[in-house]
Amino acid sequence: MIKENVADVEAKIQAACERAGRKREEVTLIAVSKTKPVSDIREVMETGIIDYGENKVQELCDKIETIKEPLNWHMIGHLQRNKVKYIVDKVKLIHSVDSLRLAEQISQEAIKKNVDVDILVEVNVAEETSKFGMSTEEVTQMVESIARLDRVHIKGLMTVAPFTDNPEDNRLYFRNLKQLAVDIAQKNIDNVIMSELSMGMTGDYEVAIEEGATMVRVGTGIFGERIYTK
Ligand SMILES: *Cc1c(COP(=O)(O)O)cnc(C)c1O
Repeated sequence: MIKENVADVEAKIQAACERAGRKREEVTLIAVSKTKPVSDIREVMETGIIDYGENKVQELCDKIETIKEPLNWHMIGHLQRNKVKYIVDKVKLIHSVDSLRLAEQISQEAIKKNVDVDILVEVNVAEETSKFGMSTEEVTQMVESIARLDRVHIKGLMTVAPFTDNPEDNRLYFRNLKQLAVDIAQKNIDNVIMSELSMGMTGDYEVAIEEGATMVRVGTGIFGERIYTK
């Protein structure tokens, strides 16, 4: 089942790239494995996927411990400052940086551990009160402040678009995030690259790719529905 799902998602990614006149290599598929057992991740690994996303620090650390193979782990969930120390030297990219204070904490821990940390700035493009992320108006100033921190490097922007049955509803949000990245890139801020756009989930990743996503985060579409026991 999981392998068929991966093949299906892969075909849809390729088709979306073709429609948008983009190369398949421009888009990284991140398999979002939160709540799913290591045995499921191993099944996905057999298809050649090396990027995995988790949203809880404890679960992320447990899985990194258990799976010895070198994988690219992505922190995609809300990150508390007191937990930064557990992951800064373990993850490929932190997608969910939503405040200057969090970025400062990442910088401090990165200096302590003598590592460089790549991050994305999370933007709440739809201005949903239930979601984390900076408002579109705040982002540029926040990027300028974070850029001055040592050993933290901004690589782009991330958003979690509203939940909807119609992916077209989110097209404008994705387009706006892309435009925001273009605007920030034009400022040529030191220590800031706007090469990554992490946007699109199971319900809307094809539209996100058409609008310029370089990373899509797909959970349910690969692993099936999540069952929350707590
Ligand atoms: C859970 C999660 C996803 C994956 O969601 P699906 O709809 O299952 O694909 C993507 N991004 C974030 C930030 C998540 O928390």
